[in-house]
Amino acid sequence: MPLTDIHIHHSQPETGVVFIRNLFPGEPFPEGETERFFSVGLHPWFLKSAEENAGLMKLVAEKAALPQVVAVGECGLDKLTKAAWEVQTDVFVQHVLLSERLQKPLIVHCVRAHNEIFHFRRQLKPTQPWVIHGYTGNENLTRQLLGAGFLFSFGYILLNEKARAAASLQLLPPGKFFLETDDFEVTIGEVFQKAAQLRQVAAAQLQEQLLQNFQKIFLKK
Ligand SMILES: [Zn+2]
Repeated sequence: MPLTDIHIHHSQPETGVVFIRNLFPGEPFPEGETERFFSVGLHPWFLKSAEENAGLMKLVAEKAALPQVVAVGECGLDKLTKAAWEVQTDVFVQHVLLSERLQKPLIVHCVRAHNEIFHFRRQLKPTQPWVIHGYTGNENLTRQLLGAGFLFSFGYILLNEKARAAASLQLLPPGKFFLETDDFEVTIGEVFQKAAQLRQVAAAQLQEQLLQNFQKIFLKK
């Protein structure tokens, strides 16, 4: 039973891990790797002029249409980054439309903008799932987002004993979340071990559940 990791950038996971590697626009598929799954998006940290963003979004759209790309993103809204808010929301909505056109889920980066992301989902009524990656929200926020149809992905934060995200992980139904390493110095095995402990389930059961979630959401099986 493989472990699943839905969001990595540059690290090389252990053999046997099923993972989604995130690429930025123009970043090539790594050569000589046997991995099969990717996500492609324009991250809010790397927004440029309107003209440059339009060119980058063209690259995103081209690559996202390929079969090995199983999700659009990461894309999103970030109140701590310098890009103008209107530019962020404009590019975010373009990703939503692409996700709907290609019928591929959206991987969302969200920093201090959960209300806005919530509002966009209510307003745009997408058919595709939106997975908030690197999720750190508290229980109240989690209940609200869950009610609006969001999915969640947790990473290294779970290893922090004081993290409020631990309680959020505990309240979620088994079909509503994923685990990830992102670019942090942690193995997906460690994240799984901690998540299983927090949810009081056997590690094998969690592995099986998250593999099912992966197949359902990203592979549409
Ligand atoms: Zn990331």
